[in-house]
Amino acid sequence: MSLLVVGSVAFDGIESPYGKEERIIGGAATYFAVAASFFTRVNLVGIVGDDFSKKDEAIFRGRRIDTTGLERASGKCFFWAGRYLENLNERVTLTTELNVFADFNPKLPEKYKGSKYVFLANIAPSLQRSVLQQVTKRPKLVALDTMNYWIERTPDDLKETLRHVDILIINDSETRQLSNEHNLLRAAKHIFKMGPSALVIKRGEYGALLVDKNGVFCVPAFLLEEPHDPTGAGDAFAGGFMGYLSGVGKHKDADLRRAMVYGTVMGSFTVEEFGPRRLVRLKSKEIHARARHLWKLSQFKP
Ligand code: AMP
Repeated sequence: MSLLVVGSVAFDGIESPYGKEERIIGGAATYFAVAASFFTRVNLVGIVGDDFSKKDEAIFRGRRIDTTGLERASGKCFFWAGRYLENLNERVTLTTELNVFADFNPKLPEKYKGSKYVFLANIAPSLQRSVLQQVTKRPKLVALDTMNYWIERTPDDLKETLRHVDILIINDSETRQLSNEHNLLRAAKHIFKMGPSALVIKRGEYGALLVDKNGVFCVPAFLLEEPHDPTGAGDAFAGGFMGYLSGVGKHKDADLRRAMVYGTVMGSFTVEEFGPRRLVRLKSKEIHARARHLWKLSQFKP
């Protein structure tokens, strides 16, 4: 199976109590694609400017990532800058420069059009929808991520796109903002009326929840003594989650539960170092070892 992703490929400026990076490769689709490629083939759709060098593109090379759909335009890459507060849970966005994304009109290469799994990473909802419309047959599974930036600026567009989505993967504050409900279970019910039949809520160091017709499934976070930079952890989570499902080609309850664990594992590696550095050096055996560890730490006999 192959997994299509559309989203930002970017440069980020990151400040955390553990250090500072002025300009490091990032973007939601970058983290997602690298994480998912450990489990499945990935078809990447995005746009970069002429400041994105061959050396930068090497992040996708030697992995199961097809970059035919990564357009090059004249101008600068999407740029995002943020600062994390002491607890690393809260972050302030300092800059969002759309640059080449402002005029992006995604065109799917022919060979991507039959993708069975689709992930619409955090990007303008109208662009997410335009990519989905170009997939010729209804995919087996469509998942979407978004953020406060789009919930506030383009709410109608977002609601229209959500009608075509099976799984919404967002964090707890976005869940509350989108649904206008503080209680997460009530928020989930509200969101189900918008289109998705399942909701994955990422809760940082408190783990992640899957809410669907079978009820609720929780995975604890893999706690680290020295987290450095949470940037991209949510996208890497989504990459592990969707990558696993695309790899096994099914999404029954047991598959979704395992996918939650692989999502958690990929997110936890991402925060160990700045930007995608840790993800890039990761080995499959480390992923499986951490999944086993998570299984152990959440076992009990009732
Ligand atoms: P996360 O930490 O999972 O929320 O994702 C961080 C990544 O999302 C960074 O690498 C940014 O380049 C990217 N990003 C931040 N804001 C936006 C936005 N408005 N649209 C698309 N991508 C964004």
